[in-house]
Amino acid sequence: MRKKFIFVTGGVLSSLGKGVSGAAIGTLLVARGIRVTNVKMDPYLNVDPGTMNPYQHGEVFVTDDGAETDLDLGHYERFTDIDMHRRNNFTTGNIYQNVIARERQGEYLGRTVQVIPHITDEIKRLIWNAAKDVDLAIIEVGGTVGDIESLPFLEAIRQFRTDAGRDNVLFLHLTLVPYIKSSGELKTKPTQHSVKGLLQIGIQPDIILCRTDRPLPKSIREKISLFCNVEVDEVIAAQDVKNIYELPSAFHEEGLDDRVLEKLGIWAAKPRMEAWQDYLARASSALAPVRIGVVGKYVHLVDSYKSLNEALAHASVGNDAVLELVYIDAEALEPVNLLESLERVDGVLVPGGFGERGMEGKIRAITFAREAGRPFLGICLGMQLAVVEFARNVLKWSDACSREQSITSAHTVVELMNEQRTITDKGGTMRLGAWPCCLASGTLARRLYDRERIQERHRHRLEVNPLHVKDLEQGGLQICGTSPDGKLVEMIEITEHPFFLGCQFHPEFKSRPLSPHPVFLGFIAASVAFRRTRGKSDIHG
Ligand code: GLN
Repeated sequence: MRKKFIFVTGGVLSSLGKGVSGAAIGTLLVARGIRVTNVKMDPYLNVDPGTMNPYQHGEVFVTDDGAETDLDLGHYERFTDIDMHRRNNFTTGNIYQNVIARERQGEYLGRTVQVIPHITDEIKRLIWNAAKDVDLAIIEVGGTVGDIESLPFLEAIRQFRTDAGRDNVLFLHLTLVPYIKSSGELKTKPTQHSVKGLLQIGIQPDIILCRTDRPLPKSIREKISLFCNVEVDEVIAAQDVKNIYELPSAFHEEGLDDRVLEKLGIWAAKPRMEAWQDYLARASSALAPVRIGVVGKYVHLVDSYKSLNEALAHASVGNDAVLELVYIDAEALEPVNLLESLERVDGVLVPGGFGERGMEGKIRAITFAREAGRPFLGICLGMQLAVVEFARNVLKWSDACSREQSITSAHTVVELMNEQRTITDKGGTMRLGAWPCCLASGTLARRLYDRERIQERHRHRLEVNPLHVKDLEQGGLQICGTSPDGKLVEMIEITEHPFFLGCQFHPEFKSRPLSPHPVFLGFIAASVAFRRTRGKSDIHG
C-alpha cells in the first residue's frame, strides 16, 4: 500500500478538539489493523514547548526518547496506544533552526533562502520522516486557518498532495457549528467562512468535521455540503461527549472512518472496539466515589495537568470508582484553609512543578498526609518535597530544603547533580525521557508494578542528594526505587503509612485508558479504601 496522509486543520476558533479528533480517528484506524502514527505541527517559534509555562501552553508531554512535546501527543498515545517519538511533533522554531543551520553550512550556497521553497520543503521532509515506519499518518496543523503563523504549513500540505499523489492525501477540516439561542438555530456561516479561507490557500477539504453541542440535522449537513463542495455524508458531526473516549465510537457511527478509507482507497476490516466499549461501560457503571486533592500551582488551567487528570480517571475506572478532582492552590491558601481543604479529600497528590512559589504550601500538605495517614502520591517535585518534609519533620533538620528554594542550608536534601551544574542553556537540557529503575523487593512500589525493573519518563534537573540518603533511610524513609547503578533515588515510600509513595519520574505519561498505570491504580485503590473507613458523616459536601 502507498503511504497515506490525513491532514487535520482547524477553523473558526481554537480549542475545538483537533488533537482529540485526530487521536480518535487514530483509534478507529488502529482498531481496523492499520499501522498509524499521529503528528502535530506547531506554528510557534519556540523549538519545543519545554520553555513555556503551563499557563501559556498547557502540559508539556514527554516521550520515551526524551522530547518535550505538545500535550496532543499525550492524546495520541492514550487513544492509539502507540508510543510517540521526537519526530511526531515539530514547530516553526525547529524548522527555521534546521534551515538556518543548513544555510550556515553552505548547503544553499549562491541561492536566496526563502519560505517557499526552503521552509515548505523542510516541513514536507519532516512529515515524510515522521511517517517513515507506518502506512498512514494523521497530521494536525496547529493554529486556526487565517493565522499568519500557520500559512507556511498550509502551503506545505497543499503541495504535499501533489508530491504524495492525490489519492493518498485527505484533508479534514474541523469547524464549529454554533447554536444561537435567541434564534434557536445552528449556524453554518462560520464553517462556510473558514472553508473559504482554506480554498483561498488552495486546499479543498474532503471531509468537514463539525463540532456542535447537539445533533446536526440533515438540513444543516445539506447546507454545508452545498456551500463547501463536499457530499452530505462527508459532513460529519463531532458532537460534545461526556467522556472523550466516547469519541471514536461516535465518529464511527457517523461513518467517519468508512469515508476516510473509501477516499484513500484503503480496504480494511471493521474496527474492533470491544475493549473500548468495555472501558466506557465500566466508566459509566462505576459507583464508589473518591475525592482526590491535587495540591499545585497551575490549578487554574486544567490543561496544565492533562496527563495527570487522565491517569487519575483511567485508574478510577480501573477501581470502579467515580473520580472527583479537587484542585488546591498551594499558594493562595493560609495554612488553616489548606488543612480544611485537605481534610475533605480521600487522597493527596502533589504533582510536578518548577520554581519556589507554593512550595511551603505543598510541604504543609505533605505533612498532613503523612501524619493523618492519608494516601499520598508525590510526583517529581512532589517526591522531592516529600523528602524535604521528611528531613524537616522526622529527622528534625529544620533547615532542610531543595536547591530550588532560595535558602542556604547544610541540609539541601534535593540537589543539582554535577551534570546539571555546568548547563547554561534552558531548552531540552533536563534529565528527560525514559530511564530504567530497579525496585526493591518487599516494597509497596514492587507490589504495585509486580516487576523488578521498570522504565519511566523523567523531566527534571534536581535529584535527591546522595549525601543525605543514608540518614533519610535510617530515619525510616524507604528508598524503594533507584537507578540500576543505585546512585539516583527514583522512588520513596513510608512503610508504616497506608500509602505514601513518591516517584522522581512522571508515571502519568504512560497511563492509558485500556491499561491504567499501576501507581495510579494503587493510589486510587488506597484512596477508595480510605473513603470507606471514614464515617460518612464527616464527608462534607
Ligand atoms: N523542579 C524540579 C526539578 O527540576 C521538579 C521538576 C518536575 O516536577 N517535573 O527537578
